[in-house]
Amino acid sequence: MIDVMQIVFGVFVFIFGSVIGSFLNVVILRTPLKQSIITEPSHCFSCGHRLAWYDMFPIFSWIFLRGKCRYCGAKVSPRDMIFEAACAVLYLLAYIRFGLSWELAYAFVLFAVLICVSGIDIDHFEIPYWCSIAVAVLGVSAFFVFPETVWYERLISMGVVGVLFVILVLIGGMGGGDLQLMLGASLLLGYRVFPALFVGILLGAIYGSVKKLRDRKAEKEISEKIKEVAMDWYQEQLDRDSGYVSVGHDDIIVGGISDGNPDIEWEFLDENVWHGLPDKAALSRTLRENITGEREGGFKIYIKEDLVVKVKYSRRMVFGPFLSVGIAASWLYGSIIMDWYIGLL
Ligand SMILES: [Zn+2]
Repeated sequence: MIDVMQIVFGVFVFIFGSVIGSFLNVVILRTPLKQSIITEPSHCFSCGHRLAWYDMFPIFSWIFLRGKCRYCGAKVSPRDMIFEAACAVLYLLAYIRFGLSWELAYAFVLFAVLICVSGIDIDHFEIPYWCSIAVAVLGVSAFFVFPETVWYERLISMGVVGVLFVILVLIGGMGGGDLQLMLGASLLLGYRVFPALFVGILLGAIYGSVKKLRDRKAEKEISEKIKEVAMDWYQEQLDRDSGYVSVGHDDIIVGGISDGNPDIEWEFLDENVWHGLPDKAALSRTLRENITGEREGGFKIYIKEDLVVKVKYSRRMVFGPFLSVGIAASWLYGSIIMDWYIGLL
């Protein structure tokens, strides 16, 4: 028998989740730009018209206006609506799973932080420090609120995740932000962090393979462009006798494009194999002038003696959203998964 009160609470939790989700969209948009999340009124990004309260009704405004601005008809991305719906559904799932409890309160805070992690990582390829700190604070407080997960389980999990991540970061794909997030999650989840990690890596790998196929052509074109720039630059170094890789040696120049700006990481240059000093500023400058319209990626320029032999460019991918899904799923169902898994042994 489903209690009427439970349905009323469920509806309330869903609406509450969508309102929180709507607020999180503002946090995702404004905090990375260091803008206030309170003072500025919301407006259409196309026509600048100030939005009325009925234009900002979470989820439903977008659906009723069929994804268009009421004033100018410009298309509004469904993304905000998707995040609102995700928050609402996650909150409702947590209520169904936990009822009114500490687990539910933790779920509300945790899922809000994870939605910020996902949105900001997608936009800026970076998991903000404050998000990982927030998860870690939840984790430390969980030592006292949920003592049934013993303290050493949480610390052991953190240690194992730390070691695993050193390997994952070295293989590539994962960054320091992902590590910080998962360390905080280990404190919170204990052994349940492992199903979280498994789900996150699995989803990330599936997405990564699809993305790799889709981006292959663009990556090749940008590699070619970088190669042209690098070849001209290197020829200049040779002509001027200013700095080049010595006979019988090779080296790799490592760089990246971050927020649309190409940059070289000169500290990776093996100065022992270079004859003289190359004009570093010139290469950075010509890359910035010639490589435009590409947002995030990394490249390697392979040099052998008097030739730029190869350039390999690959677009960066985000892991934060997938790890977030894993953490949320594990907070909701991790103990069920663990029990099932232990039952198999
Ligand atoms: Zn408009």
